[in-house]
Amino acid sequence: MKAFKYRLYPTKTQSEKLDWTLARCCELYNAALQERKEAWNGCRRPPNFYDPEWRSEHARDYHISFAEQCRWLTQIRKEIRPDYQHIGSHVLQNVLHRVDKAFAAFFRRVAAGSTPGYPRYQSKTHYDSLCFPDSAGWKLKENRLRITGLGTIKVKLHREIQGTIKTCIIKREGENWYVVLSCEVEVQPRLPYTDLAVGIDLGLLHFATLSTGDTIENPRYLRRREKKLKAVQQALSRKKRGSHRRRKAARLVGKCHRKVANPRQDFLHKESRILVDCYETIVFEDLRPRNMSKRPQPRQDKDGTFLPNGAAAKGGLNKSINDAGWASFIRMVRVKAESAGQSTVLAVNPHKTSQVCSACHKEGPHKDLSERTHTCVHCGIVLDRDVNAALNILRLGLSHQAAQVA
Ligand SMILES: [Zn+2]
Repeated sequence: MKAFKYRLYPTKTQSEKLDWTLARCCELYNAALQERKEAWNGCRRPPNFYDPEWRSEHARDYHISFAEQCRWLTQIRKEIRPDYQHIGSHVLQNVLHRVDKAFAAFFRRVAAGSTPGYPRYQSKTHYDSLCFPDSAGWKLKENRLRITGLGTIKVKLHREIQGTIKTCIIKREGENWYVVLSCEVEVQPRLPYTDLAVGIDLGLLHFATLSTGDTIENPRYLRRREKKLKAVQQALSRKKRGSHRRRKAARLVGKCHRKVANPRQDFLHKESRILVDCYETIVFEDLRPRNMSKRPQPRQDKDGTFLPNGAAAKGGLNKSINDAGWASFIRMVRVKAESAGQSTVLAVNPHKTSQVCSACHKEGPHKDLSERTHTCVHCGIVLDRDVNAALNILRLGLSHQAAQVA
C-alpha cells in the first residue's frame, strides 16, 4: 500500500460543508464511544477490566459490537437525526469502525499485560479526517474530485497516481484541505541491480556524511523561520483563552508550523529516495535522537556553586537535532528500501565511531565536537572526521551482516 496526498481547493461553501460533515462525524464518534462506555459501566462499574480472568468471563455481557452499532446507525439516521442522511453511510460506518479499532487496540494491549489509556473522546478541532472506505461516494476524474452531495473540488495532482485506489480520505490541516488516496502498488524489483554499500554518519555540520565522502547538506528551515514562529507563539500566549483573537493566533501558529514541516518532509523524501536508488546496503548509526535530546547533567564544584555544563550549547544542538529530523529520515529510508524489495537498512551502535581509525581500526584519543579532521596517531591517515565515522559505521554494519549470514 502506498499513499498519495494531494492538495484540495474547495470553494468557501464546500469547505463549510466539509467542516459541517467533520463535526457530524466527530459527534457520532463520541456518541458511539459513550454508548460503549455506558454499556461497559452497566448499572454499576464492573470490578476490574484489567483482570484477564474476569474479563474473559464477563466481557461479552457488556460488549457492544461494531455490527450492532451499524444497525442502530441506520435507525437513528431514519428516525432521530435526518441531518445524517446527507453523509454517505459508508463514511459514517467508517467512523464506527474507528471506534471499534480504538477498543480493539485497547483490549489487545490489556491482554498483552500493559495498562493502556481508555479510548478517549475527540474534540471537534482535532477530529479532522473522513474516509471513503471504498469506491462509493466519490470519483476522481482528471484534476477534479467529485463527492456526492458536495460537488466537484479542484485537486492539484502534482504527481502521478500508481496502482489501484482502495480508499479515499479527506483531511483537514489547519485551513488547508487534502485528499489522501491509498493505493495498492505492486513491488517492482529495482533495476539496475547495484551492489554498493554505504555507511552514513548523521551530523550537525552536514545533515549526513556518506562513507563515499559525499555529504547531504542541512536545510535549516526551522532556524530561518524560527524567529517568526516564536513571535506568533508569544502572540498566542498573550491572548485570552476561548477568545476569537486566540483562535486566529492559533491558526497562524499552525500555519507557521506547516511552513517548517512541509519543506522538511519534502527534503527528507527526496534525499531518502536518492539513497535507496543508489545503494544496496545502507548502514546508519543507531542514534536514538530521543536520548540525545536530554538535558545535560548539572555540574557543581566543591562549594555547591553551579558550573557551566554546556546546557546552552547543547540547547542549540538539540534544536538542530530536532530540526534535522534524523529519525524520520531513517524511517523513510527503511520504508522506501522495503518497497524496493532489495535494499537492506542496518543500524549499528555508534559507540566510539569517531575515535576509532577507519584505516587501521585502532582507537585514538577522544575528539571534541569542534575537531573536524581525523588524524590517526597510529597510521598517520588524515580524513574528514565525519567520513571516518561513516566508514566505521559501514564496517560495523557489514560485519554484523556477515555474522548474521554465518
Ligand atoms: Zn589509523
